[in-house]
Amino acid sequence: AAKKLHGTAYLHYDPTMATTGSDHAHLGAELREAITDGQLFLLYQPIVSLDDGRIIGAEALVRWAHPTRGTLAPDSFIPVAERTGLIVPLGRWVLRTAFAQLASWIAEYDEAAPRVLNVNVSARDLREAGFADAVAALLAEHRITADRIVLEITETMAVEPGQSVTNLHRLRALGVRISLDDFGTGHSTLTLLHDCPIDEIKLDRSFTQTPIDNRVPISAAVIHLAQVLGLHAVAEGVETAEQAEQLLELGYLAAQGYYFARPMPPVRLGELLGAGVSLTPAFSQPDTGLP
Ligand code: C2E
Ligand code: MG
Ligand code: MG
Ligand code: MG
Repeated sequence: AAKKLHGTAYLHYDPTMATTGSDHAHLGAELREAITDGQLFLLYQPIVSLDDGRIIGAEALVRWAHPTRGTLAPDSFIPVAERTGLIVPLGRWVLRTAFAQLASWIAEYDEAAPRVLNVNVSARDLREAGFADAVAALLAEHRITADRIVLEITETMAVEPGQSVTNLHRLRALGVRISLDDFGTGHSTLTLLHDCPIDEIKLDRSFTQTPIDNRVPISAAVIHLAQVLGLHAVAEGVETAEQAEQLLELGYLAAQGYYFARPMPPVRLGELLGAGVSLTPAFSQPDTGLP
């Protein structure tokens, strides 16, 4: 039985981390410290208008400046945070920091500030009875109108009935928008769109990045679905001009990806906002004749 238990535990082990089990437990303890010691920080990736490259929003993405391991990506510690319950204080820290950042951009850049800020929310947050109240309190504290916040959930998490769905409705009632992240990779997508108050879908990058010949049917079906249901659609993970061009042709209005901009520190995004920069895709620029 011990062997089986061990095997089960190993299944929950994050294979992306080349560490031993005890390192893993250690990471949990370190994460607790990281949240209170200010080792976490947020990067912001612009969301752009596909036709002209205007920055219409940004997504907050958490990083951990680990004292000895360097900067850690969320995939290496969010699962640990979820298993240990640290996702709740971590999630609150992310919301507070992101809201404060948006308030600061609005104060500094006014109209040029991102119209909306997307923030990822974990399944655990959504199950918590006080979550919508906490969001409302943070909005009030930072004097941010609810319509400037988009909370991103994933399909796998929102499927849970009960408190999660109640929270989604309460958030929607506040005026916060709900986005379905990694759209197309979950299990009961269509049921979810029917049962939950969803405002936006983010087409998963596995579809935007499929070789062009194979990609069109799914991406086309998803934008059609969004149009029929009146949902905002964002194409994720756009890395090439070719992908951007084809998504625009299919009817996508908004996109996010390395082709336009990588996740960046808030100061850098502020510079872009201040300069009124358009992350203008090469395909819409006149041919300069340069190599
Ligand atoms: P996500 O929400 O789907 O975020 C998009 C991920 O794709 C980000 O990875 C981003 O850096 C990456 N990405 C953006 N453009 C491109 C591209 O053109 N090509 C490729 N290959 N990748 C691109 P990141 O920052 O490592 O985040 C990974 C995941 O961790 C996120 O996926 C999200 O599910 C989760 N996450 C990030 N921040 C938070 C947070 O504050 N709270 C929670 N609960 N989860 C978070
Ligand atoms: Mg996201
Ligand atoms: Mg995503
Ligand atoms: Mg993702």
